[in-house]
Amino acid sequence: MKIDLRSIYRFHPIEGADGLPSGGDVYYECECGDIVSSVSFVKAACKCGNVAGGHGSVTTQSPEKVKPLRGKLR
Ligand SMILES: [Zn+2]
Repeated sequence: MKIDLRSIYRFHPIEGADGLPSGGDVYYECECGDIVSSVSFVKAACKCGNVAGGHGSVTTQSPEKVKPLRGKLR
């Protein structure tokens, strides 16, 4: 089962980020279009497999294909 985070959060790109930041309100948008929390505690992955996380951290195979976003609850 998949939750569309866009229906819960309003996302804004993080400008001038040095590398990929992480935090409770930081999300990664992969080039495949999926959004994964940067500190996901549940097992989560984007559909192309570039971003995969769980247990509070996320690994990205190709960070250049990932855009960090800040999410605010709608
Ligand atoms: Zn992806």
